[in-house]
Amino acid sequence: MLNRVVIIGVVLVLSFIYGCGGNEPVAEIVYDYPLKTSPIRPTPPSTPRVLPKYDESSVPSNWMPLSWAEKNWTAIIIHHSATRTGNAAIFDNWHREGRGWNGVGYDFVIGNGTDSPDGQVEVTKRWRYQEVGAHCGGTPGNWANKEAIGICLVGDFNHSTPTRAQMQSLVRLITFLQNRYNIPKNRIYGHGTTPGGRNTDCPGRRFPMAELKSMLD
Ligand SMILES: [Zn+2]
Repeated sequence: MLNRVVIIGVVLVLSFIYGCGGNEPVAEIVYDYPLKTSPIRPTPPSTPRVLPKYDESSVPSNWMPLSWAEKNWTAIIIHHSATRTGNAAIFDNWHREGRGWNGVGYDFVIGNGTDSPDGQVEVTKRWRYQEVGAHCGGTPGNWANKEAIGICLVGDFNHSTPTRAQMQSLVRLITFLQNRYNIPKNRIYGHGTTPGGRNTDCPGRRFPMAELKSMLD
Protein backbone atom coordinates (compact mmCIF):
# COMPACT_ATOMS: atom_id res chain seq x y z
CA MET A 1 0.00 0.00 0.00
CA LEU A 2 2.80 2.41 1.01
CA ASN A 3 4.71 1.51 -2.18
CA ARG A 4 1.75 2.36 -4.31
CA VAL A 5 1.38 5.76 -2.62
CA VAL A 6 5.06 6.51 -3.23
CA ILE A 7 4.83 5.54 -6.92
CA ILE A 8 1.72 7.65 -7.45
CA GLY A 9 3.41 10.54 -5.68
CA VAL A 10 6.51 10.28 -7.92
CA VAL A 11 4.37 10.14 -11.07
CA LEU A 12 2.41 13.19 -9.98
CA VAL A 13 5.61 15.14 -9.22
CA LEU A 14 7.19 14.16 -12.57
CA SER A 15 3.98 15.09 -14.40
CA PHE A 16 4.06 18.45 -12.68
CA ILE A 17 7.72 19.05 -13.60
CA TYR A 18 7.67 17.90 -17.22
CA GLY A 19 4.02 18.59 -17.95
CA CYS A 20 1.76 16.03 -19.56
CA GLY A 21 -0.02 18.10 -22.13
CA GLY A 22 2.73 17.78 -24.78
CA ASN A 23 3.14 21.27 -26.25
CA GLU A 24 3.53 23.25 -23.10
CA PRO A 25 5.08 26.68 -23.71
CA VAL A 26 8.77 26.69 -22.87
CA ALA A 27 9.62 29.16 -20.17
CA GLU A 28 11.71 32.06 -21.37
CA ILE A 29 15.08 32.54 -19.81
CA VAL A 30 15.11 35.87 -18.06
CA TYR A 31 17.95 37.69 -16.41
CA ASP A 32 17.67 39.48 -13.13
CA TYR A 33 20.73 41.62 -13.91
CA PRO A 34 21.33 44.09 -16.74
CA LEU A 35 22.51 42.28 -19.86
CA LYS A 36 25.24 44.82 -20.50
CA THR A 37 27.30 43.53 -17.63
CA SER A 38 28.92 40.15 -17.90
CA PRO A 39 27.14 37.49 -15.85
CA ILE A 40 30.49 35.91 -15.03
CA ARG A 41 32.85 38.11 -13.10
CA PRO A 42 36.25 36.62 -12.38
CA THR A 43 36.97 36.99 -8.74
CA PRO A 44 40.32 38.68 -8.19
CA PRO A 45 42.92 36.42 -6.63
CA SER A 46 43.32 37.04 -2.94
CA THR A 47 47.08 37.47 -3.31
CA PRO A 48 48.76 39.12 -6.31
CA ARG A 49 50.29 36.71 -8.81
CA VAL A 50 54.02 36.44 -8.24
CA LEU A 51 56.01 36.01 -11.43
CA PRO A 52 58.92 33.62 -11.19
CA LYS A 53 62.08 35.59 -10.65
CA TYR A 54 64.73 35.25 -13.34
CA ASP A 55 67.02 32.41 -12.39
CA GLU A 56 70.65 33.50 -12.67
CA SER A 57 72.02 30.14 -11.56
CA SER A 58 72.17 28.95 -15.18
CA VAL A 59 74.05 32.06 -16.32
CA PRO A 60 77.77 31.56 -17.06
CA SER A 61 79.72 32.97 -14.11
CA ASN A 62 81.87 35.20 -16.32
CA TRP A 63 78.77 37.14 -17.42
CA MET A 64 78.64 38.57 -13.91
CA PRO A 65 80.58 41.79 -13.48
CA LEU A 66 82.81 42.32 -10.48
CA SER A 67 80.36 43.15 -7.71
CA TRP A 68 82.29 46.15 -6.37
CA ALA A 69 82.40 47.68 -9.84
CA GLU A 70 78.82 46.99 -10.92
CA LYS A 71 76.91 49.93 -12.43
CA ASN A 72 73.32 50.58 -13.33
CA TRP A 73 72.99 50.09 -17.12
CA THR A 74 69.96 51.52 -18.89
CA ALA A 75 70.16 50.33 -22.51
CA ILE A 76 71.67 47.74 -24.85
CA ILE A 77 73.26 48.51 -28.23
CA ILE A 78 73.89 45.86 -30.85
CA HIS A 79 76.74 46.00 -33.37
CA HIS A 80 78.21 43.87 -36.09
CA SER A 81 81.94 43.66 -36.64
CA ALA A 82 81.44 44.44 -40.35
CA THR A 83 84.05 41.76 -40.98
CA ARG A 84 83.53 38.18 -42.02
CA THR A 85 85.79 36.85 -39.27
CA GLY A 86 87.12 37.89 -35.86
CA ASN A 87 86.95 37.47 -32.12
CA ALA A 88 87.36 39.61 -29.01
CA ALA A 89 91.18 39.36 -28.98
CA ILE A 90 91.44 40.40 -32.63
CA PHE A 91 89.11 43.39 -32.12
CA ASP A 92 90.99 44.25 -28.93
CA ASN A 93 94.18 44.48 -30.96
CA TRP A 94 92.54 46.59 -33.68
CA HIS A 95 91.00 49.00 -31.21
CA ARG A 96 94.22 49.26 -29.19
CA GLU A 97 96.67 49.56 -32.07
CA GLY A 98 94.45 51.04 -34.77
CA ARG A 99 92.44 53.52 -32.77
CA GLY A 100 94.48 54.04 -29.64
CA TRP A 101 91.60 52.94 -27.42
CA ASN A 102 91.93 51.22 -24.10
CA GLY A 103 91.20 47.82 -25.62
CA VAL A 104 88.15 46.43 -27.37
CA GLY A 105 85.27 48.90 -27.17
CA TYR A 106 82.46 46.36 -26.67
CA ASP A 107 81.32 44.58 -23.52
CA PHE A 108 80.54 41.29 -25.25
CA VAL A 109 81.52 39.67 -28.55
CA ILE A 110 79.53 36.77 -30.01
CA GLY A 111 81.52 34.51 -32.35
CA ASN A 112 80.39 33.09 -35.68
CA GLY A 113 82.60 30.00 -35.87
CA THR A 114 85.52 31.63 -37.65
CA ASP A 115 87.97 32.84 -35.02
CA SER A 116 85.89 31.69 -32.04
CA PRO A 117 83.20 29.01 -31.69
CA ASP A 118 79.83 29.71 -33.32
CA GLY A 119 77.60 31.42 -30.74
CA GLN A 120 80.30 31.70 -28.09
CA VAL A 121 79.90 34.77 -25.88
CA GLU A 122 83.22 36.39 -25.08
CA VAL A 123 83.23 38.79 -22.14
CA THR A 124 85.65 41.72 -22.37
CA LYS A 125 87.55 43.56 -19.69
CA ARG A 126 85.22 46.53 -20.18
CA TRP A 127 82.32 44.48 -18.90
CA ARG A 128 84.19 42.75 -16.11
CA TYR A 129 85.36 46.08 -14.70
CA GLN A 130 82.20 47.97 -15.81
CA GLU A 131 84.23 50.55 -17.72
CA VAL A 132 82.78 53.17 -20.04
CA GLY A 133 82.46 51.62 -23.50
CA ALA A 134 83.93 52.72 -26.81
CA HIS A 135 81.30 51.41 -29.19
CA CYS A 136 78.78 54.17 -29.82
CA GLY A 137 80.34 57.61 -29.94
CA GLY A 138 78.72 60.94 -30.70
CA THR A 139 75.65 60.75 -28.47
CA PRO A 140 74.79 63.73 -26.23
CA GLY A 141 76.97 63.59 -23.13
CA ASN A 142 78.38 60.31 -24.49
CA TRP A 143 75.36 58.68 -22.83
CA ALA A 144 75.48 55.54 -24.98
CA ASN A 145 79.04 54.60 -24.02
CA LYS A 146 78.39 55.43 -20.37
CA GLU A 147 74.96 53.84 -19.92
CA ALA A 148 74.49 51.27 -22.65
CA ILE A 149 75.93 47.78 -22.86
CA GLY A 150 77.67 47.13 -26.20
CA ILE A 151 77.27 43.71 -27.80
CA CYS A 152 79.07 42.90 -31.05
CA LEU A 153 78.26 39.96 -33.30
CA VAL A 154 81.07 38.83 -35.55
CA GLY A 155 79.97 39.13 -39.17
CA ASP A 156 79.09 41.58 -41.91
CA PHE A 157 75.32 41.79 -41.86
CA ASN A 158 75.10 44.01 -44.89
CA HIS A 159 75.93 40.88 -46.84
CA SER A 160 74.93 37.97 -44.58
CA THR A 161 72.82 37.33 -41.49
CA PRO A 162 73.83 36.14 -38.01
CA THR A 163 74.07 32.39 -37.50
CA ARG A 164 71.32 30.63 -35.60
CA ALA A 165 73.74 30.00 -32.71
CA GLN A 166 74.64 33.70 -32.60
CA MET A 167 70.97 34.67 -32.38
CA GLN A 168 70.33 32.10 -29.64
CA SER A 169 73.27 33.38 -27.60
CA LEU A 170 72.23 36.99 -28.21
CA VAL A 171 68.72 36.30 -26.91
CA ARG A 172 70.09 34.50 -23.86
CA LEU A 173 72.55 37.29 -23.10
CA ILE A 174 70.03 40.09 -23.60
CA THR A 175 67.45 38.29 -21.47
CA PHE A 176 69.96 38.07 -18.62
CA LEU A 177 70.90 41.75 -18.97
CA GLN A 178 67.27 42.90 -19.26
CA ASN A 179 66.38 41.10 -16.05
CA ARG A 180 69.43 42.15 -14.09
CA TYR A 181 69.19 45.85 -15.01
CA ASN A 182 65.47 46.17 -15.69
CA ILE A 183 66.01 47.21 -19.30
CA PRO A 184 62.78 47.34 -21.33
CA LYS A 185 62.64 46.10 -24.91
CA ASN A 186 62.34 49.61 -26.29
CA ARG A 187 65.79 50.41 -24.85
CA ILE A 188 67.47 47.82 -27.06
CA TYR A 189 68.90 49.54 -30.13
CA GLY A 190 70.90 48.77 -33.21
CA HIS A 191 73.94 51.05 -33.32
CA GLY A 192 72.46 53.08 -36.20
CA THR A 193 69.15 53.73 -34.44
CA THR A 194 70.62 54.74 -31.09
CA PRO A 195 69.08 58.09 -30.07
CA GLY A 196 71.53 60.91 -30.73
CA GLY A 197 74.06 58.55 -32.32
CA ARG A 198 76.03 58.92 -35.52
CA ASN A 199 74.68 57.82 -38.86
CA THR A 200 75.79 54.24 -39.50
CA ASP A 201 74.32 51.11 -41.03
CA CYS A 202 75.70 49.03 -38.11
CA PRO A 203 74.58 46.31 -37.19
CA GLY A 204 74.02 45.80 -40.91
CA ARG A 205 71.06 46.21 -43.24
CA ARG A 206 70.24 42.50 -42.99
CA PHE A 207 70.38 42.27 -39.21
CA PRO A 208 66.98 40.80 -38.13
CA MET A 209 66.04 43.37 -35.48
CA ALA A 210 62.28 42.71 -35.67
CA GLU A 211 62.88 38.98 -35.29
CA LEU A 212 65.17 39.59 -32.33
CA LYS A 213 62.56 41.77 -30.61
CA SER A 214 59.93 39.09 -31.16
CA MET A 215 62.18 36.58 -29.38
CA LEU A 216 62.51 38.79 -26.27
CA ASP A 217 60.12 39.50 -23.40
ZN1 LIG B 1 78.44 49.53 -34.36
